[in-house]
Amino acid sequence: MGDIRNIYCVGRNYVAHAKELNNEVPSSPFLFSKPTHAFVEANGQEIHLPGNRGSIHYETELVIRIGSKHEKGMKADEVIDRMGIGIDFTLRDVQSELKKKGHPWLLAKGFPNSAVVSKFIEFPGINEIKEKDFSLIRNGEMVQVGNSKNMIFDLQTIVDFTSLHFGLDEGDIIFTGTPEGVGQIFDRDHLSLKWDNKIIGDCFIKFT
Ligand code: ZN
Repeated sequence: MGDIRNIYCVGRNYVAHAKELNNEVPSSPFLFSKPTHAFVEANGQEIHLPGNRGSIHYETELVIRIGSKHEKGMKADEVIDRMGIGIDFTLRDVQSELKKKGHPWLLAKGFPNSAVVSKFIEFPGINEIKEKDFSLIRNGEMVQVGNSKNMIFDLQTIVDFTSLHFGLDEGDIIFTGTPEGVGQIFDRDHLSLKWDNKIIGDCFIKFT
């Protein structure tokens, strides 16, 4: 697998999550992006995160990888080649301040190691993945569970929208939004990413 290129993230893509943060449910996809330095694969190692900028929340998300250039009219199943389960780490207090000022979210969402992804596995297809849940285990306890069938904007809509406005090509990945149940992480937490009852990535958190 080649390098990761653009890292796109969908915000507010599950109704129950938009409500838990008192956000409006959007009428068109809501996207932001992260620098490539944010990306790290969870393969059992220690991952360093900032411990002195307020609370850090996990957002567990289905992540898709684009395998070839998307052209208008193409099916998402033709261009998505791999998938993983990721965590969109968020400095929640920083984000709240940025939202109040109407500033971009980069400081809250774009720090190094803020885009953790399990190993990438073969993408089975848009319809097939709706049969399976993804989840996050924190210190042995399941803390968040989601299913792509509950997305407000489905993967086809996300792929079309991203391609139209920013371009989509090999190596781009998209975090497709978090379901409800986001919460805080702490120094020394052990996090495991689960897909279809199998752990496909894990890491230990180290605050720096
Ligand atoms: Zn997110």
